Amino acid sequence: MNGCPFCSIVAGEAPAGVLYRDDRVVAFKDTNPQAPEHFLVVTARHIPSLAEVESGDEELLGHALVVARKVAQELGILERGFRLVANCRRQGGQTVPHLHLHVMGGRQMTWPPG
Ligand code: AMP
Ligand code: ZN
Repeated sequence: MNGCPFCSIVAGEAPAGVLYRDDRVVAFKDTNPQAPEHFLVVTARHIPSLAEVESGDEELLGHALVVARKVAQELGILERGFRLVANCRRQGGQTVPHLHLHVMGGRQMTWPPG
């Protein structure tokens, strides 16, 4: 989608610390990390948020979770554990309207989130 920063990263047009890429998802480092390890898994297709997910997206979303787990393992945060977050729309705290999973680890997480 024109003007979308994550579509630009998916297209290889904007720089990013890419950790994993295939035809369905891209994982890259968050530029404003909230934990020692913080990366995003985004869908290659522009879906604005979880609110726009449809029947038929099950395989894509499941794949994104498997990639989150795989990259977490490669970064060494699988054994001790990590936090997975998907902010959805305004009250969910979403700032980039392209579906993404946050994966954060390397420190103790607290609950509930703010
Ligand atoms: P959210 O607030 O859930 O929409 O999360 C957006 C996340 O994207 C924030 O954690 C930002 O730090 C991160 N972010 C924004 N632009 C970029 C970018 N160009 N490359 C990597 N991370 C980004
Ligand atoms: Zn996009």
